[in-house]
Amino acid sequence: MKIIINNIPEGGLRRTFHVDEGLFEHLSGGEKPQGFLSHDNAIVNCEITQIKDRILVRGDVSATFVMECSRCLAPAKFTASDNFVYIFVPQPSQLAEELELSAEDMDVVFFSGEALDLAPVILEQINLLIPFMVLCGEDCSGICPKCGKSKKGGLCNCGPAQTENKFSQLKGLKLNAR
Ligand SMILES: [Zn+2]
Ligand SMILES: [Zn+2]
Repeated sequence: MKIIINNIPEGGLRRTFHVDEGLFEHLSGGEKPQGFLSHDNAIVNCEITQIKDRILVRGDVSATFVMECSRCLAPAKFTASDNFVYIFVPQPSQLAEELELSAEDMDVVFFSGEALDLAPVILEQINLLIPFMVLCGEDCSGICPKCGKSKKGGLCNCGPAQTENKFSQLKGLKLNAR
């Protein structure tokens, strides 16, 4: 995922990266997001353009994830995608602050040397696709509080949960309306 800056042609460079395994081992700490099971088909398309001493990286990212449903813990498969823009600025640069202020939806990254390493930004983009909460379906009814099985697919035979009605004892009570 390294780009040699001298090799960027005037019209820009197009690159496609496939991120297969060990995604989270590359991320800081290597910690997997909660409920994460696996990912597949993580594809990042980048367009890399040099503008004077800065390098603009525009692209899109898409990936298929398998995560535990936040309600019933069943594996839920989904595909997510997004666009991104990064601007790589030589370090040190006084421009960085200006750029950050002028382009709020652009992420500014410092670089030094002859090459750009796109791995951190690509991994960050894939990581950003992962939602905080995943449901196996909008109608997921979660786990049975009695047997712990998923209510989906008739796994649980407990029948409707007996909910204790806290107000049932108030039923016979007459309110004194003034
Ligand atoms: Zn579910
Ligand atoms: Zn049950």
